[in-house]
Amino acid sequence: MKAALAPSSLTSLSYRTNSSSFRSSLLFRSPSSSASMTTTTTRGNVAVAAAATSTEALRKGIAEFYNETSGLWEEIWGDHMHHGFYDPDSSVQLSDSGHREAQIRMIEESLRFAGVTTDEEEEKNIKKIVDVGCGIGGSSRYLASKFGAESIGITLSPVQANRANDLAAAQSLAHKVSFQVADALDQPFEDGKFDLVWSMESGEHMPDKAKFVNELVRVVAPGGRIIIVTWCHRNLSAGEKALQPWEQNLLDKICKTFYLPAWCSTDDYVHLLQSHSLQDIKCADWSENVAPFWPAVIRTALTWKGLVSLLRSGMKSIKGALTMPLMIEGYKKGVIKFGIITCRKPL
Ligand code: SAH
Repeated sequence: MKAALAPSSLTSLSYRTNSSSFRSSLLFRSPSSSASMTTTTTRGNVAVAAAATSTEALRKGIAEFYNETSGLWEEIWGDHMHHGFYDPDSSVQLSDSGHREAQIRMIEESLRFAGVTTDEEEEKNIKKIVDVGCGIGGSSRYLASKFGAESIGITLSPVQANRANDLAAAQSLAHKVSFQVADALDQPFEDGKFDLVWSMESGEHMPDKAKFVNELVRVVAPGGRIIIVTWCHRNLSAGEKALQPWEQNLLDKICKTFYLPAWCSTDDYVHLLQSHSLQDIKCADWSENVAPFWPAVIRTALTWKGLVSLLRSGMKSIKGALTMPLMIEGYKKGVIKFGIITCRKPL
């Protein structure tokens, strides 16, 4: 799944929305320095240059991470690189196929929550899909088959794009589904092209959430849906300016291994979407529904096959595996939230 850059400069951005103005920080650490550096707009060009370098380093780190780890993930977990959706409090130890079903259920629950599959007319109108941060294309192939639609997936990892195209060809879907290396923050598509804009567990990698949302809004067609399913931190309460230091420390450790910039909350996403005059903006916290996922991943990593594959895969995978307990801790302590945020572009 995810891994890490050794992040290191702290860039604060503020952006204004219709309903409120809020601050979000972007956190990177340069591999050469462990000291945090705060850059603000007052530092002008220096800050911009530092942010650009950090963004480039992050992109490279993400690409290398997924180049290295995707084969291992596919071998053990298959082609969906996202959490499963489970009934809350389900304590059953599922078989491998049970977890795969839970990953498919995540896709189905997301479509239902967004209102895509509860409206026959809307479902029929889904002809073009973009899968933003597509992994090895599990969602794209599933969605294209389900809706009889075309899907284009983008990823930073050339290894993933190649593998996703090979799998599409093997499943006789190459005429419907294709994958390419492209940046979600600068998508190579014209405005209003897609009826469904799908981002399953890629938003947490985006160093500029405002730009990310701008791009999703730009490429969605009038009347189309945007579905963002992503790792968030908890919403801040009224008057609270930032997470507690211990909470931030926990997230920083996860960022280091999983190549993530600073996190934001579901409220932050909602505010960003509100600033674009979108309709039906909805969000939910599905943290309870994903709780069995990481313990299951750890259990598979600890099997003989899992351990051998991990060692073969390399340091990034090993570091990723060692960070998994921190994800469980983050969920248990309520710092990490598994969020879904959806909306519709007006006709
Ligand atoms: N959505 C997929 C994979 C999730 S893993 C699934 O559910 O199976 C995260 C994915 O986000 C990876 O494919 C990674 O390359 C992609 N990603 C991260 N940052 C990106 C960016 N800036 N542009 C495009 N893809 C990005």
